[in-house]
Amino acid sequence: MGTFHGITSLVLLALAMLVGLIGVALNAPSAAVAYILVLVVAFLVICAAYCAKCPCRTDACGHLLPGLVASYLPARRQTHYHTADMALTALALAAMVFYPQYWLWQHPALLALFWLLTAGAGLQIVRRVCPSCQNPHCPMKKGTTGIRSLKADRPAD
Ligand code: SF4
Repeated sequence: MGTFHGITSLVLLALAMLVGLIGVALNAPSAAVAYILVLVVAFLVICAAYCAKCPCRTDACGHLLPGLVASYLPARRQTHYHTADMALTALALAAMVFYPQYWLWQHPALLALFWLLTAGAGLQIVRRVCPSCQNPHCPMKKGTTGIRSLKADRPAD
């Protein structure tokens, strides 16, 4: 089940990507179509490389949508993240964020809005979503609440 901060931070990120898409489309419509493909593929890569190993994905994903998508992907063992998982996730995130930068530089207002929305989402995730997330293998958990198991956190029936 999603949380307020998990869902609104995802909405902020989606708005940032929309601003990026507009910036690209104003200069190069075909590159904008390619950006849509990049966004879809990158999102699926994150769901497969990262969320598919998360124990929250079926019923406790703070962001709701990635967990929902990941729950339809082939199940993966819930072990710590390997280098390949982290590299693919980082690459996908980088593609989503950096693809539109060349075109956004030609529209300073859109560029500022893109980074404002992205920074807002990032801050919200780090400060409000990560501390209550129950994925024990996520590196973002380090320094917050430590490693906990889902069962240990669930109240007794
Ligand atoms: S809590 Fe995070 S890692 Fe887990 S499914 Fe949701 S978005 Fe993915």
